[in-house]
Amino acid sequence: MQARHVSGLLACAFVCLAGPAPSTVSSSADETAQLLREILAVDNSNPPGNEDKLAQLLKTKFAPLGFQIDIIQTPQAGKSHFIARLKGDGSKKPILLAAHADTVGVEREKWSMDPFAGVIKDGYVYGRGAIDVKGGVAVFAQAVMLLAKNKVKLERDVIFLSEADEEGGTYNTRWLAEKHWDKLDCEFSLNEGGWIIKGDDGKVKYVSISTADKSGVSLLLTAKGTSTHSSMPRPDNAIFILAKAMAKISDYDTKPKLIPSTKAFFNALVKTSEPPMSTYFYNMANSDDPAKIAEADREISSRDTLLHAIMRNTIAPVFLKAGFRGNVIPGSAEATLNFRTIPGTDPEDLIKEIKNVIDDPRVEVTTASMGLSPAMAKAYAGLRNMPPSTEDSDLYRTLTAKAKETYPGAEVTPYLFQAGTDAFPWRSKGIPVYGIYPYPITAEDLKRMHGNDERVPVESLATGTQMIYNTLVEVAAKK
Ligand SMILES: [Zn+2]
Repeated sequence: MQARHVSGLLACAFVCLAGPAPSTVSSSADETAQLLREILAVDNSNPPGNEDKLAQLLKTKFAPLGFQIDIIQTPQAGKSHFIARLKGDGSKKPILLAAHADTVGVEREKWSMDPFAGVIKDGYVYGRGAIDVKGGVAVFAQAVMLLAKNKVKLERDVIFLSEADEEGGTYNTRWLAEKHWDKLDCEFSLNEGGWIIKGDDGKVKYVSISTADKSGVSLLLTAKGTSTHSSMPRPDNAIFILAKAMAKISDYDTKPKLIPSTKAFFNALVKTSEPPMSTYFYNMANSDDPAKIAEADREISSRDTLLHAIMRNTIAPVFLKAGFRGNVIPGSAEATLNFRTIPGTDPEDLIKEIKNVIDDPRVEVTTASMGLSPAMAKAYAGLRNMPPSTEDSDLYRTLTAKAKETYPGAEVTPYLFQAGTDAFPWRSKGIPVYGIYPYPITAEDLKRMHGNDERVPVESLATGTQMIYNTLVEVAAKK
């Protein structure tokens, strides 16, 4: 039933388009779900990723439709990037749709079905990567292939990229961009990022399109004391000094700092929520009263770790190191704190902030290398200073319009993504990248990302494909 209903929606969306729009319609509304099943059946858990297996599958789909195919082999066996280009007349620069092929691994015994079988049950497609982001691979691929199937005449090339090593590894988009930029250059791009969130009533509440990603920096806390025999403890014990510093940080939180897209996002939440939450969202985005902001922060943060994270630099202790044998009091103790930072955050300011909180000269605070190569450290530094992608572009405006058209009544808002993505090579060159997981999901579905029984609704894949296809027709087809 659901599928037939969506089929009607799709038919309307595709045939009602003006101008050069295709008159043929996807034969089945759940074609994207079928494609996703095949994609999920390829195990791309990284390590090792085995992205080449997915590249070979995608080649069998794209090549017969006239796409120019490039499978870029990395120095690691079995790891490759897949690029399919549909040629336009060249009068405009290409548009690129990118999604990573690799996924995190699974705790197989905690799944109620095979995570690599593409199981469809109760209107959902289940499998590792269904949300992050093989669902996106399927939607972007399906939308791009529909352009070819419907013989849409294009003003610009449309490039589809399925990438390796986003979830970890050496040969990610940074490597690819260094080696093969000519195959990736574009006017703007879509990637993973914002969310299409459904309420319990099944209606889409909001569509958030990420225009920036948070970045990261890690600080090393080193407490110094006297190294001596454990039979004669002294007051300057490095482990106690570090523990006291950590207790202070545990009781501390950074101040909210809303960039314009986060303000816009909170103002969208004002419209999609009930009091008292709507009041807290409003005050967080618009109030100048420190007491009201503090109250809003408390109420929002205690309910939602994602919202807590996007409005501030977050602090997470990730390593502790002290001691080497049972009868020695060590002379030093170390803790590593991982910060996920708002764009424009200077690590030196974070160091000052944390030193003030600890207020103990026996604890040194420095940036932690985290084993990053100088090139990676430079890349992260660049990421921290990168401005958000502009909302003043054809792609952003069109995606916003098509999101509203596809999900009537939904708020559409820019968004700061709470983590990093593989959009760096484009954003670092000033090319706008807009992030979206192109399928409506509930907060409950979202919890399963990187977790167990990850799933995406069949109907959401269909409407997401419709939204992305209509966006591509508008920004790439000949008028
Ligand atoms: Zn992802």
